Amino acid sequence: MIIAIKHGAPKGEVERFAAALEKQGVKIHFSEGASQTVLGLVGDTTGIDEESLMAHHLVEKVIRVQEPYKRANRLFHPGDTRIDIPLPEGGLRSIGEGKLGIIAGPCSVESRDQIVSVAKAVKEAGAGFLRGGAFKPRTSPYSFQGLGCNGLDLLLAAKKETGLPIVTELMAIHQLEVFDEVDIIQIGARNMQNFTLLKELGRCRKPVLLKRGLASTITELLMAAEYIMAGGNSRIILCERGIRTFDSYTRNTLDLSAIPALKRHTHLPVIVDPSHATGLAWMVPSMAKAAIAAGADGVIVEVHNNPEEALCDGEQSITPDTFSTLMETLKKYAEFEGRSI
Ligand code: PEP
Ligand code: MN
Repeated sequence: MIIAIKHGAPKGEVERFAAALEKQGVKIHFSEGASQTVLGLVGDTTGIDEESLMAHHLVEKVIRVQEPYKRANRLFHPGDTRIDIPLPEGGLRSIGEGKLGIIAGPCSVESRDQIVSVAKAVKEAGAGFLRGGAFKPRTSPYSFQGLGCNGLDLLLAAKKETGLPIVTELMAIHQLEVFDEVDIIQIGARNMQNFTLLKELGRCRKPVLLKRGLASTITELLMAAEYIMAGGNSRIILCERGIRTFDSYTRNTLDLSAIPALKRHTHLPVIVDPSHATGLAWMVPSMAKAAIAAGADGVIVEVHNNPEEALCDGEQSITPDTFSTLMETLKKYAEFEGRSI
């Protein structure tokens, strides 16, 4: 971090200011030019608040040369992180470090028949994980809110029948009580900056699928991951799920460039949700392929046995047949790049 001191600031005051900064665990490198003094802060500056520095009467400008996240930073951990998820029948299923995580299933759990039949179909096609929402964040309070605890039980029944680990969304801390057998906790776009929730996830030892907020920057997504990691939980999978732009042709705009950007700045695995990104089932296969080609560590795709009748997000849900065709291509992509599903 570099701090430019205001022209004409009294030397003694600048020295006292620098000494106070050093108490925060950084070394100060003084550079006194003819017209300006510049302080170079060397060491871990993640705990130093840029805004309060800017408010200091001696400070002209603050420039951060390093990212404000530390644990999520690739500088801190140069190799890729792999998240290993234990399988019910023993062994592990991994995401990251060349292993693609393919998560598929309906937007919401609707009935036993629905979730079990979709689970069987996506497993048959080669998916590694089953998704399904039990607690749903809906824009309207009058829309289907998910089956709650009953939905979770049905998801667990599908896990038992297929052996697929399950991914489902947590909306509130108290729901953690019933998430014991959930394999990956999904934090939805709307909760990406629910810092109380993130802190609690830092204390838990389950993998977290952290979705990018609707209007969040890449740095904000990484800072949200940092919240969880600062609490001691490093098992995080990031998910690009489209962001809000001026265009309403698609439900959101899939930011494919977030994949190489995130992969450059963090060691955490990055997956893509082409379903919520586009809102259109016919676009999902193309965008899933694009995501893997761009270096994503997997995809999370909404699959429904009868999209027309779906209680939530039918328009963006692909059928098991389409998913199966997509999987064939994704397997070839993975193989071509020396990665595996
Ligand atoms: C979902 O995965 O069903 C969901 C609600 O996603 P998002 O939080 O990305 O909107
Ligand atoms: Mn959905």
